[in-house]
Amino acid sequence: MRAMTNPRAITRLVIHCSASPNGRPVSIAEIDAWHKARGFHRAPAAVLRWNPTLKHIGYHFVIGVDGATSTGRSEGEIGAHVVGANINSLGLCMVGTDSFTPAQWLALRNQVGALIEFLPEMEVVGHRDLSPDKNGDGRITSDEWLKRCPGFDVAAWLANGMRPETAHVLDAT
Ligand SMILES: [Zn+2]
Repeated sequence: MRAMTNPRAITRLVIHCSASPNGRPVSIAEIDAWHKARGFHRAPAAVLRWNPTLKHIGYHFVIGVDGATSTGRSEGEIGAHVVGANINSLGLCMVGTDSFTPAQWLALRNQVGALIEFLPEMEVVGHRDLSPDKNGDGRITSDEWLKRCPGFDVAAWLANGMRPETAHVLDAT
């Protein structure tokens, strides 16, 4: 990725999934169309400067089933991917629901590693981890998740040296 400054005090990377069938390719243009249907809009000036064919997408990065990482919004743009927490975050989407190809896992590790190099203080979380803590115990437990997104435990993945649990790895065959 290109050198970046931290123009809007990014403190968090939020990992999402596309909630499409595991292993089925989805292009970033399709995600842009989904986000158009949901009424998301990038600022016109930002569209002119970066990825002008993607006028709606809410994410900053999308990792396809082939492991290719595409960019959506630029890091300097506020995304549209998590209610109430877009201003200081980046949004990354894994194509699939809860099981991803080995190439995707490798790309995720590379992308998150590169982002952490530029923003070492950044917190890396899953979308579901930002659900409201209903019982106020300081932990977001599965009964409190508003969504299952991104379909895996980001904290466990980080704690395991960015290695996925086997149950979340799609067979390469
Ligand atoms: Zn999400």
